[in-house]
Amino acid sequence: MTPQSDVSLQALNTLAVPARARYLTPANSIEDLREALAFARERALPSLILGGGSNIVLSGDFDGVVIPLQLRGITCLTEQEDWVELSVAAGENWDDFVRYSLAQGWFGLENLSAIPGNVGAAPIQNIGAYGVELSSVLTSVVGLDLETGAERRLSREDCELAYRDSIFKGALRDRFVITEVGLKLSKVANTNLSYPALAAEVDASASPQEVSAAVRAVRARKLPSPAELPNAGSFFKNPIVSSEQADTLREIHPTLPMWPHNGQYKLAAGWLVEQAGWRGRSGEGEQAGVGIFREQALVLINPGRCPGRRILQFASEIQASVHAQFSVNLDIEPRVY
Ligand code: FAD
Ligand code: NAP
Repeated sequence: MTPQSDVSLQALNTLAVPARARYLTPANSIEDLREALAFARERALPSLILGGGSNIVLSGDFDGVVIPLQLRGITCLTEQEDWVELSVAAGENWDDFVRYSLAQGWFGLENLSAIPGNVGAAPIQNIGAYGVELSSVLTSVVGLDLETGAERRLSREDCELAYRDSIFKGALRDRFVITEVGLKLSKVANTNLSYPALAAEVDASASPQEVSAAVRAVRARKLPSPAELPNAGSFFKNPIVSSEQADTLREIHPTLPMWPHNGQYKLAAGWLVEQAGWRGRSGEGEQAGVGIFREQALVLINPGRCPGRRILQFASEIQASVHAQFSVNLDIEPRVY
């Protein structure tokens, strides 16, 4: 393992932020990973485990060791008549894995088609789309506990998966490197068309492969490809508010979309950003080169390939204006470094 020094990260983050890493050392095996972590520890430097770089904002150069995790492999642990249990290495590309599982006749991931990034990052924010979350198929996670250096298996419950959230964003943040993800997939088709935007695309009898194709088609229509227009998907999380706050908001803004969510309410962040006047708008002056995508107000775009600092200033203007108009706090979804 010979870490490279002073490396550009621009091609390694989908916002195309032109930040640099003090060191970069890819890990193709657990041994590589341990060596890279030791290299960082010996120099008292922070480390950043990198997947596809589709959910991060680099606010400046990273004065530490960036470790692209490239562990590969898909292992079938158990196969029964109706289901399979798999262990998937963290460096597998998520969407390649979705395509592979569908081709095997293993179902449950069709609504999660075309999400960028790697398998190892999927539990971090419990990826979700079109009414399905990773939590519906995840069985366990294996990884390195950075405090003890020991390999550890976490059960599904241990992962504390919630709406775009998990223990890896909380108590185990920066403390655990996911090396394998355990998933249980069904051999029986049982599609979920609960999202109107998806139901409008296919028949109720659609196969999982047809649902996957429909998800790909809608996403291609609505979302910018990071290769053409740098972005990190939804930049803001849909806020979860109390029933009381939801009642107040509903009275003042009867068209604000909201959905019941575990005794609270989930608000459409995209609607709030749009109503505050940001949809299709570009930053000016200090924030030139950054903007909000015209087709979807939740997506912040970086056509100017600007530094993360400028992105965050632009985002904070949006957060302030949404708060001023609706008294709702918008949190940034990608992890900021
Ligand atoms: P990275 O950006 O590389 O990393 C994200 C965070 O996870 C970082 O903090 C990193 O250190 C940490 N991390 C990564 N791998 C590991 C590991 N193995 N162990 C420990 N920590 C790790 N998300 C959704 O939920 N639903 C969507 O529908 C969706 N659509 C998107 C569409 C577009 C166009 C884009 C650009 C993004 C979208 N996202 C979506 C966000 C993103 O794709 C997901 O969050 C994805 O799981 C991030 O994977 P990644 O490998 O790129 O993670
Ligand atoms: P959409 O279908 O236009 O819906 C807009 C918002 O309304 C979404 O945030 C969604 O919440 C919510 N919503 C719609 N119907 C709902 C229902 N029946 N019940 C509960 N909530 C409902 O969204 P879109 O932008 O085209 O994205 C489609 C899907 O892909 C969404 O699930 C979205 O989360 C996911 N996606 C995520 C990212 C990301 O980076 N996180 C990026 C692109 C797309 P949810 O977000 O909770 O689903």
